[in-house]
Amino acid sequence: MKAIRIHEPGDISVLRYEDVDTPEPGVGEVRVRLRAAGVNHRDIWVRQGLFGAFPQPVIPGSDGAGEVDAIGAGVTRWAVGQKVVINPGLSCGMCRACLRGDQPACPAFHIYDGTYAEYAVVPEANLVAMPGGLTFAEAASIGIPYVTAEDFLIRAGAMPGQTLLLWGATGGLGLATLQLAKLRGMRVLAVTRNQSRADRLRQFGADEVILYAPGDDVSDAVLGMTQGRGVDIVVDSVGRESFFQSLSAVQRGGVVVTVGATTGGQVTIELGRLFRHRITVLGAFMGSTSVLPRLLPLFSRGVLVPVIDNTFPLEQADQAHDQLEHQGVFGKLILSV
Ligand SMILES: [Zn+2]
Repeated sequence: MKAIRIHEPGDISVLRYEDVDTPEPGVGEVRVRLRAAGVNHRDIWVRQGLFGAFPQPVIPGSDGAGEVDAIGAGVTRWAVGQKVVINPGLSCGMCRACLRGDQPACPAFHIYDGTYAEYAVVPEANLVAMPGGLTFAEAASIGIPYVTAEDFLIRAGAMPGQTLLLWGATGGLGLATLQLAKLRGMRVLAVTRNQSRADRLRQFGADEVILYAPGDDVSDAVLGMTQGRGVDIVVDSVGRESFFQSLSAVQRGGVVVTVGATTGGQVTIELGRLFRHRITVLGAFMGSTSVLPRLLPLFSRGVLVPVIDNTFPLEQADQAHDQLEHQGVFGKLILSV
């Protein structure tokens, strides 16, 4: 089969389009003929080697949708030809965390890599039936951003009437957070660097759009929009450049969700800033495997809207990474397979 593989960490040039042996499904596993793969920031971090060394070539990509192509021994839930979406959280399935449905707390938890390929083999428990009314590209755009956003909104205690400050609002995670927060009846202050995207953010429900350039401080604007109180929840995927502004923009007792660090992850905090204001810093990384089956039907009913910025053929994965890293997006980038 054709696949994108990474042999050593580096820039986009390490994404090699090459011939790879087609994987065979083992006991309890299913092989999917992928039709679309979602591009996530995680894939860039994998490419850069931030998740560890490369003992063997890695096929990146966690989100994908396609058709069941072959089933391994003992598989009971799936048949060849069914349209499916990959649920990319892998865990042991039998520890306390798994049994209570909190798979990301499983000691064995990790995120599946391997959808930048024509075929992917996954455990049968990691597939969800693809609902009608969605294209493969749309179905592949949902997994990591929506599962992550839904999970941290639940853990942050998001409530109707609360205000949420959203950094990186136009990215895949940003638009997922925006839609899920609006569904909860929250007020959303959306931060973007790009004036031309402000109107579209409002169409997706942003109550206020804050234009931001590196070096700006948005906390004054946020305090102005909240009668000086600050917001209930901040969602920060930017990291070093934004984190102290997030601490200034959140109200006493509020929650700062840290869910990425696109400008770097090294910060030095004076702890009094946290404890005097009773601030919770909440780390977010994927979510329960029960989230994706629950959310997918909301897309086929039009309650949630998949947003795709651009689609590239699989062999141009490097161009997709270049756009996500350097040019900005409004929604998801997809590889068609
Ligand atoms: Zn487990």
